[in-house]
Amino acid sequence: MNLILIGPPGAGKGTQAKILEDKYGLKQLSTGDMLRAEVASGSDLGKKAKDIMDRGDLVPDDLIVDMIASRMEADDCKNGVIFDGFPRTVDQAQALDSMLSEKGNPLAAVILFEVDEEELVGRLNTRVEQAKAAGQEVRADDNEETLRNRLQVYRNQTAPIIPYYEAEDMLSRVDGMASIDEVSASVASILDKAKAA
Ligand code: ADP
Repeated sequence: MNLILIGPPGAGKGTQAKILEDKYGLKQLSTGDMLRAEVASGSDLGKKAKDIMDRGDLVPDDLIVDMIASRMEADDCKNGVIFDGFPRTVDQAQALDSMLSEKGNPLAAVILFEVDEEELVGRLNTRVEQAKAAGQEVRADDNEETLRNRLQVYRNQTAPIIPYYEAEDMLSRVDGMASIDEVSASVASILDKAKAA
């Protein structure tokens, strides 16, 4: 079972992906986490991605699609994958569709987290404060100015994948402003329906 979580930065995709990993034995693939690991390792891809990410812009589609395609070959992806932060453009969505249909391994669901954008700025500030309090490094792109750009990039480049998946009759919506437990109950009911179908 493969699924996609869509939503702006701070919508709670990562939190729910972790819950789903435990509950359904799926593997979370966060392209943001994968890219941050590339930057930290100093790989060619990391070098290409770093400044783009620091600005909150999108890393080129071909780099992302290659990165995901090779990651999906690993054994831990056999039970299925939760795509978190991917696809982020219609071109990435099309590339994923062909990748999955080649494998004969279709998408079970695409879940959109609907959130109030102004609340996201507050969530980001909380995330930064928590990271600092825990002595963790704060992400270079976790500041209000870059977040505003990430939200704009989401509206311009990522939101068009919503009608794309609606046209495929794949899209479900959850209220991302609800509590973590409420969101995870809504997500579970969507997946249970998808599995039964
Ligand atoms: P966010 O908290 O904004 O959802 P992520 O951790 O998902 O952040 O991603 C951080 C950055 O990594 C993005 O702003 C972008 O530069 C890059 N990135 C992550 N996923 C993708 C993708 N699928 N396509 C292009 N760029 C990506």
